[in-house]
Amino acid sequence: MITYETWDSEQKPTFPIDNDEKGALHVLTWAYEHYGKDLLYACSFGIEGIVLIDLISQVRDDAEIVFLDTNLHFSETYETIERVKEAYPRLRIHLQTPTLSLEEQEQQFGAELWKMNPNKCCELRKIIPLRQAMAEKKAWISGLRREQSPTRQHVEFINLDKKFHNIKVCPLIHWTWKDVWRYVHRHNLSYNPLHDRGYPSIGCAPCTSPAYTEEDLRSGRWAGLGKTECGLHES
Ligand code: SF4
Repeated sequence: MITYETWDSEQKPTFPIDNDEKGALHVLTWAYEHYGKDLLYACSFGIEGIVLIDLISQVRDDAEIVFLDTNLHFSETYETIERVKEAYPRLRIHLQTPTLSLEEQEQQFGAELWKMNPNKCCELRKIIPLRQAMAEKKAWISGLRREQSPTRQHVEFINLDKKFHNIKVCPLIHWTWKDVWRYVHRHNLSYNPLHDRGYPSIGCAPCTSPAYTEEDLRSGRWAGLGKTECGLHES
C-alpha cells in the first residue's frame, strides 16, 4: 500500500485522462480500492466539492466526508450542505468543529483573530480539526485543480502530504473552471448560490470577497491580508 511511510519504495499508479472526467473516476476507483475506510474526503462544498461528491458517490456511495466547520461560514454554505445530504443520503457527511468556540478563541487570542493573525486563526479552526479528523486515515481526497492558482500548478493525482503525514489524492487536477461548470450543469447539481454572486472560491465569511479575476480564481480569499492559502495544502 502506498502510505506516507512507504512512499519512496512503492511504484505510483498512472491513470488515463482521455475520458470526460479527465481521469478523476479512475483515480477515485483506485483510491477507494487501495485505501478503503482509511480514505477521507475533506470537502469545502465549493463548486469543485459538488463535482467530487457526485463522482465519489458513483464509486463509493457511503464514503466518509468531512467539512471543516469553522463556525464562520456563510449561511448559504450550511444550506448547501443540507441539500447535498438530502441528495446523497448514504454518504457519511460529518462537520468537524474546532476545539475552541469563537468566544473561547476571542478570550485567548483577541477579537477577530482572522484580521490580526489569519494564519493562527486557520491553524485553530481548520488545520488542527483536519488533523484530528484524519488521525486514523492513511489518505485524503482534495479538490485541488492545477488551474486554480500558481501554487497549485504542480499538484499530481497522488501526492505525499508532509504536513499531515499521509497521502493526498487529487482527482481534479486536469479540470478547468469550464469543465467543472459543464459537469455541474450537465448533471443538474445543486450548488452554493454565492457562486452566482461573484464568489468563485468560497471560504469563511470574514475572509472571502466577491472578487473575480480570470487569472486567479482564488483572488477573493484573504484579499488584502497577504495570504493566499489556509495552510491545508502546504506540504
Ligand atoms: Fe479564520 Fe479566515 Fe482562516 Fe476561516 S479562513 S479559519 S476565518 S483566518
